[in-house]
Amino acid sequence: MKIKSIDVFDFAKCLNYTDCAPICIRINTDAGISGFGEVGLAYGNAHYGGVGIVRDFGQLIIGMDPLNSEAIREKLFRTTFWGMGGGTVINAGMSAIDIALWDIKGKYYKAPVYQMLGGKTNDKLRAYASQIQFDWDLEDRNMVTPGQYAEAAKKAMAQGYTAVKVDPVGVAASGNWQRTSQDADWRLRGQMPKPVLELVRARLQAVRSLSEQLDIIIELHAFTDTSTAIQLANYIDDLNIMYYEEPVHPLNPVSMREIRDNIKIPVASGERIYTRLGYRPFFENRSLSVIQPDVCLCGGISETKKICDMADTYDVKVQIHVCGGPISQAAALHVETVIPNFLIHEQHSYGIKQALRETCRYDYLPDENGNLTVPELPGIGQEITEETMNKTWVYTVE
Ligand code: MG
Repeated sequence: MKIKSIDVFDFAKCLNYTDCAPICIRINTDAGISGFGEVGLAYGNAHYGGVGIVRDFGQLIIGMDPLNSEAIREKLFRTTFWGMGGGTVINAGMSAIDIALWDIKGKYYKAPVYQMLGGKTNDKLRAYASQIQFDWDLEDRNMVTPGQYAEAAKKAMAQGYTAVKVDPVGVAASGNWQRTSQDADWRLRGQMPKPVLELVRARLQAVRSLSEQLDIIIELHAFTDTSTAIQLANYIDDLNIMYYEEPVHPLNPVSMREIRDNIKIPVASGERIYTRLGYRPFFENRSLSVIQPDVCLCGGISETKKICDMADTYDVKVQIHVCGGPISQAAALHVETVIPNFLIHEQHSYGIKQALRETCRYDYLPDENGNLTVPELPGIGQEITEETMNKTWVYTVE
């Protein structure tokens, strides 16, 4: 079997989300089998880079046997010069290719990917409702008051979720989202002013007051620095937080360790850490209790499995980062089903939006108890519909 061509589907043409427009790929073979993958850059500002890297690297694997996914990875890593340099865009492209190769492998051997990775360790995958600062609904809205945070959490709990993730600092008191905010009084680095600390605490307290049983994960999107991450964690120490995500620059293991040493909440990070080499210093310095590799960013299914196995030797748990289209969701479910150190699945607020769900053939969402199960179809068990393909920008490498 040989790789004949690669199609890149850019959803930015048909999805008008300002924040989420997946980039997906399909690798086609001369045996008539095709596999789907996703470049993990559906959000943020690296969209054209994500499309372009598959067009660049894709040319190099035409004619290769798609079953040799390790040899293909090695070629892209070693012979492209920039492959060994890594980074977000390079690894996102390599991830999409790897996922599509696993999809082909599964279809060729007529087995779901999880079976080829080691079989079923986790039958049910507990999920949490992620990013409730944007509400938990079919439209996103910035939540400002503590009461609004409680309302959003209540909606998720009514759907069966037993855990939520909230960024309590991202939306300023003015209602502006931090990334684009100019609010001088909403200071998150250096030292957080008392009114900011008080509002952040009140938001979390409002969610906690709904239930002592609810698991609450705090997301910080690296808006805080070492000082403010420590300051905030100690200010909300009594609220029984499950873990504390991206409290500081994600590629700084020294700061991450300093935070870990000065707070009681377990620290998590990983959506902006790539490959085994990227994770290694965080394992070695024992700064992270939970890692969050993104299958569509850290190197694909192959690399995610290796990172998770490395994590297990350090007794580190895994919550795969899922923040893209339905292909990314399916790919994550296969790895999570296999690994013994699975902790919880991320059900992102993007992923419950109707327009995104309709881009693909199958709709994998948590059940009424907040649990997911892995697809049993050959390969990853997810495909972009023909209708969607016709609505996207398509680039073909052959
Ligand atoms: Mg995050």
